[in-house]
Amino acid sequence: MSLRMRLQPEALGTGMTSQRVRDRLVERLREEGIRDERVLNAIRTVPRHLFVDEALATRAYEDTALPIGHGQTISQPWVVARMTEAVLSVAPEKVLEIGTGSGYQAAVLAALGLEVHTVERIGELLRVARKRFRSLGMNIRSKHDDGRIGWPENGPFDAIMVTAAAPALVDALSAQLAPGGTLVAPVGAAASQSLVMLRKQADGTLSQQALAPVVFVPLLSGMID
Ligand code: SAH
Repeated sequence: MSLRMRLQPEALGTGMTSQRVRDRLVERLREEGIRDERVLNAIRTVPRHLFVDEALATRAYEDTALPIGHGQTISQPWVVARMTEAVLSVAPEKVLEIGTGSGYQAAVLAALGLEVHTVERIGELLRVARKRFRSLGMNIRSKHDDGRIGWPENGPFDAIMVTAAAPALVDALSAQLAPGGTLVAPVGAAASQSLVMLRKQADGTLSQQALAPVVFVPLLSGMID
């Protein structure tokens, strides 16, 4: 068989989004320290290639962030997996995500059977994400708003996940955490952020720990169409 013929199925895209390619990503995440089988299964199940532009679909199962337009990115699978593991540690039912972006992280949470609420400030990204949720039959509640105010009418939440970086944790968000809940967010300046996990104890006291160094796009104020 010629080299060209052997490469063809992959070049067509189907090979690059196949179950085998997804399994390879899951094995890599396992090697990189992701241990929660529920999370690994969700990553195996959710078709990440449907959350990026068709032109990037062949790269969807690489462990890397990819552009989704408007200067934003779909997070790296390892980061999605690590944040999801952190959130699952409090056995949540109701989760709020700030920064819907492509909708991938929200879809991973929904695949785990959680009640997902997500907020995005860029209207066009949210419209595309909603189409994806619909075509995958996922019932995810979403809102076009500045997520720094959270979603007080729908709170409190067992877990809150912020997928854009701010210089400090946002008080309005920790206020919407239920007792026993957790908030996971990248905190810090553009070049050096830390993934921080905040826990709210039953008596309301807060404690926090740093999980890993990360790089996220910034949490910005206001909304745009
Ligand atoms: N969770 C996304 C990652 C998207 S990148 C995914 O799985 O694809 C971060 C997203 O946060 C961007 O879409 C950006 O527009 C959004 N964002 C930034 N500041 C925000 C804010 N104040 N409120 C809501 N969304 C915000």
